[in-house]
Amino acid sequence: MSQGTLFVVSAPSGAGKTSLVRELVDSLSGIQVSVSHTTRERREGEVDGVNYHFTETAEFEAMAERGEFFEYARVFGNYYGTSQRAVQKRLDACQDVILEIDWQGARQVREKMPGAVSIFILPPSREELERRLAGRGTDVHAVIERRMQDAISEMSHHDEYDYIVINDDFTTALEELRALVISRRLTTALIRERHTPLLEALLS
Ligand code: 5GP
Repeated sequence: MSQGTLFVVSAPSGAGKTSLVRELVDSLSGIQVSVSHTTRERREGEVDGVNYHFTETAEFEAMAERGEFFEYARVFGNYYGTSQRAVQKRLDACQDVILEIDWQGARQVREKMPGAVSIFILPPSREELERRLAGRGTDVHAVIERRMQDAISEMSHHDEYDYIVINDDFTTALEELRALVISRRLTTALIRERHTPLLEALLS
């Protein structure tokens, strides 16, 4: 039976991953972003069930114990995980699913689902990344330096991914992401699965 494709997207903070992924799913049908569980505090403007499922640590650990996560990891001192059931349900319904997760989660996904497509988003330059991480200029130097080190650590795993998109111009980066999703949908294997009657009719 035909299934949707799982796309894994990782990036350092400041690369524009969340905005790109939001535009990507708005611009294509049949693709959704998975909402992760996390134990981190809710930030201003975030909505439970939309940005994340905000979960107590004890509950997260119980879910992990019960094997309810497709992947999970500790990132910057908090747990983050992807619900196995929610993702599988969508893939079974022939929907493509995007996981916005870190490199540790991406590794687990590659092991469990070799057919998943992984994409790493890079910022266009170090200066631009520093500028984006500095935010509105209200953060102290040590905090910005910490974010920079975290970003470098995440970026050091870029070579584990199938594709790399450099987010210099937003529209170009979005087009590149769209191209990756669309080209995947046009692979011979998927067309053969999804258009069996057409092929049978054409070849009879
Ligand atoms: P933030 O707290 O800034 O939203 O996310 C911090 C990091 O956690 C980001 O690198 C993000 O990609 C990662 N992350 C978010 N959800 C998940 C998840 O379900 N699993 C894993 N492994 N990482 C996640």
